[in-house]
Amino acid sequence: HSKDCVKVAVRVRPFNKRERDAGSRCIVSMVTSSITIQDPRESQSRRSFCFDYAYWSHSGFTRDRGGLYVPEEPGGRYSDQDSVFQDLGEGILENALQGYNATLLAYGQTGSGKSYSMVGYGPNKGLVPKLCDRLFQAIRENQDTRQCQVFFSMLEIYNEQVVDLLSRGSRTLGGLRVREEQQRGFYVEGLRTVPCDSAPQVEQLMEQGTRTRTTAATHMNANSSRSHMLIILQLKQIFSKESITKQSNINLVDLAGSERQRSSGSEADRLKEGTAINLSLTTLGNVISSLADVAVGKKVVHIPYRDSVLTKLLQSALGGNSRTVMIATLSPADICYEESLSTLRYAERAKRIQNRAVVNESPTE
Ligand code: ADP
Ligand code: MG
Repeated sequence: HSKDCVKVAVRVRPFNKRERDAGSRCIVSMVTSSITIQDPRESQSRRSFCFDYAYWSHSGFTRDRGGLYVPEEPGGRYSDQDSVFQDLGEGILENALQGYNATLLAYGQTGSGKSYSMVGYGPNKGLVPKLCDRLFQAIRENQDTRQCQVFFSMLEIYNEQVVDLLSRGSRTLGGLRVREEQQRGFYVEGLRTVPCDSAPQVEQLMEQGTRTRTTAATHMNANSSRSHMLIILQLKQIFSKESITKQSNINLVDLAGSERQRSSGSEADRLKEGTAINLSLTTLGNVISSLADVAVGKKVVHIPYRDSVLTKLLQSALGGNSRTVMIATLSPADICYEESLSTLRYAERAKRIQNRAVVNESPTE
C-alpha cells in the first residue's frame, strides 16, 4: 500500500506543415524536466513548469530510410519513441507484472501528438504497441514461475456513449451501459474482451479498432478528435507454487482534443454536443482539480466521478488504486500559445494527485 503522485510528462512535437507555412516561431524551451513557454505578444511574459519528465521532440531529428524518426546525432536532444517508452512504458509494465493497476493518459490539443505518443504511426511505434511487445516477452521469460492470460478491449466514448471498437453492432444499439459493482467498481457491460497471446495479435486488434473508430466518426458526421479512446489490457497471473493469482488492469487512454470545442452539426447536434461531447473531458478536469485540492489539504466534500462516463471508468486511476502517468503533448508554435499554456496548467494540476495503489492478489481458486 503506497501513496504516490500521478507522474506527468510533457512532449513537444515538430512543427507541422501549417505551422511551417505560417512561418511560426518556437515559443517553448526545455532544460532537463522544466519547460518554459513564452507569450508571443509580450516578450517579458514567460511561464515555467516542472514535470517528472519532459521530452523535446521538436528539433534534432532526421528520418531514416524506413521513415523512422531518429536523433540527428547520437546522444542528441531529440526524444524518440524509444526514450519515451523507456521512462513511461517500462514502469507501467513493471507495475502491472507486480499486480498493480496502471493507467496512461494522453492529453493535449488536436494535432499535438497524443496518438503519435500512444499508438504511433508506421515504423514509429508508440507506447501501446511497445508495451505489448515487452509484455509478451516478459510473459515468455517468466513461464516457469507463473501462467499468464492477457485480455484486450478497446472502446470509444463519444457524446457520453460507449462504443465497443471491437464489435460491429454496438454503435447502432445506442452504446453500451456502464454499471457499478461493489468489488469491481465501474465497468462496461457486454464489452468484448479478446484473449491474446502475442503482440502482433494485439496490433491487429488495434488496427481493427482504429478502423471502426474512423468509420463511426464519419457516420456520425463527427471527428474522431472529439472522442476518447480507451484500451484496457487485463493481465492475470497465476503463480502455481504459491497458489496466488494477481490481476491487473492497464488503462491506455487517448483523450479527445483539449481545445475548446466548436460544433459543426445542426442546432440539435450543437445542443447535444454542448452538454455532452466534452462532458467527459470537463468532468475529468473537475475531478483532477478536486483531487489536487485534496492533496494540498483543502476540504473537499465531493469528487464528481459520477458526472461522466470517462471519469466513472477511470475512477480507480484517479486518486485510487492505480499507478497513473499522464503525457501532455503540445505544439511548439506561437500560434498555439493559448492552448499550449492551458495544457501545461492542466498537467500541473494532475501532478498533485495522490493515488493509493495496492497489489491485487488473492488465493488461486
Ligand atoms: P493528436 O492525436 O494529438 O491529434 P497526432 O498524434 O495525430 O495528434 O499528431 C499530429 C501529427 O504530428 C502527426 O502527423 C504526427 O506524425 C506528428 N507528430 C506528433 N508528435 C510527433 C513527434 N513527437 N515526433 C514526430 N512527429 C510527431
Ligand atoms: Mg489523435
